[in-house]
Amino acid sequence: MKVIVVGAGIVGTCSASYLLRDGHDVVLVDSQGPGEGCSKGNAGALSPGSCIPLSGPGMLGKIPKWLTDPLGPLRIRPGYLARVSPWLIRFVLAGRAGNIPGLADALMALHTNTFENYEPLVKNASCQDLIRRTGTLTVYKTDASLAGSQREWRLREERQVRQRVLGAGELHELVPELSADYKHGVLLADHGFVASPYRLVCRLAEQFARDGGHLERRRVTGIIIRDGRVSGVRTADGELTADHVVIAAGAWSNTLISDLGIRVPLESQRGYHAMVQASGITPALPVVSADAKVYATPMEDGLRLAGTVEFAGLDAPPDFRRADALIALAKDMFPAFAPGKVSRWMGHRPTLPDSLPVIGAAPGYPGLLLAFGHGHHGMTGASTTGTIIANLVAGRHPTIDLVPYRPERF
Ligand SMILES: Cc1cc2nc3c(=O)[nH]c(=O)nc-3n(C[C@H](O)[C@H](O)[C@H](O)COP(=O)(O)OP(=O)(O)OC[C@H]3O[C@@H](n4cnc5c(N)ncnc54)[C@H](O)[C@@H]3O)c2cc1C
Repeated sequence: MKVIVVGAGIVGTCSASYLLRDGHDVVLVDSQGPGEGCSKGNAGALSPGSCIPLSGPGMLGKIPKWLTDPLGPLRIRPGYLARVSPWLIRFVLAGRAGNIPGLADALMALHTNTFENYEPLVKNASCQDLIRRTGTLTVYKTDASLAGSQREWRLREERQVRQRVLGAGELHELVPELSADYKHGVLLADHGFVASPYRLVCRLAEQFARDGGHLERRRVTGIIIRDGRVSGVRTADGELTADHVVIAAGAWSNTLISDLGIRVPLESQRGYHAMVQASGITPALPVVSADAKVYATPMEDGLRLAGTVEFAGLDAPPDFRRADALIALAKDMFPAFAPGKVSRWMGHRPTLPDSLPVIGAAPGYPGLLLAFGHGHHGMTGASTTGTIIANLVAGRHPTIDLVPYRPERF
């Protein structure tokens, strides 16, 4: 069968790679090179035990603060408030206490086999070195801060995620660079990270091409429907035909499906990073500040400080003061931190109000599959998403229940 995958981020590249392994004729189309979207600059954490929905009880009361602190961990640009308000209402409602266990189960199902599902792809592309199974460490300054995250740790515990609370001694033994102000840590020993998310996507895409897949650098402008089913895509350089089309265009996916009347409440949660070479700090594993919500990941080319959420849409220019704020936070975490050569980046997390992606057949359009909206966990969820998409195209029974991710749930 001929399959077009639109979007060569981590989700599209994993999907295309698994489809090719099934023997299909696969075209992976991206308007930029592979990995140039959100998959380029993220924190790289691979979190099989990640099961906490972004929205939880009490979210509504936090919104006023998000509007007033321009450099806080979560920011809504005032000019964007009216536009994003309907989405925020859905986000707050999704976080009602009764919804949380089901969402947590669905996140867990998508994330738990992240390493196992990357394994055949990275082995084939000879880049196993990029996947590091080090564990990740969340650090807390105060007893109150540790106690404040009890709800999250309970959700993990209920789902048998291996986690261990460390006291100050063990914590500083594991990460000697960490400031003595941090008193507690929680180690998620089964987590890990990608040492260069961009290089991972590039290596998988190169291998896809070496194995006979087609990489096309084109902007897709629409989906072609003939006789009630998908027959290909329109691009800026002509049409491409296929039996199946997979939309994995991250935060831009709605621009392709809205013409078909498919409504998915996709929003960009913009995030930032500061990439620091020669920082003097190389923690043995990713360290997350629980209060500041910043990841410090020891990437192969330096220390990456990543995080923050900004609602400002797809077109507003980046506010790199937010990346600079990450550097200030790193100084607070690691007293010996010296910002050597710094580069800054902003990316669009494709996010849905209930923290779950859409994965599945688009209602009413045979041959059209959707795979986007992985939010804060796209590096983690991509490998399993790839297996799901391949199963759907092949008509095999999915390995996990796909009901929570169905596009028509909104
Ligand atoms: C600061 C930050 C930190 C993060 N940390 C983590 C983390 O630690 N762990 C984790 O699991 N996740 C993390 N994430 C989330 C993760 O990066 C995303 O969920 C993931 O990269 C989304 O992948 P994607 O393939 O869906 O989208 P993208 O990588 O954005 O890919 C979409 C692709 O579609 C292409 N495209 C769009 N429109 C068209 C069109 N019309 N025609 C052709 N091509 C098109 C784009 O060029 C792009 O290459 C983080 C994100 C941010 C911003």
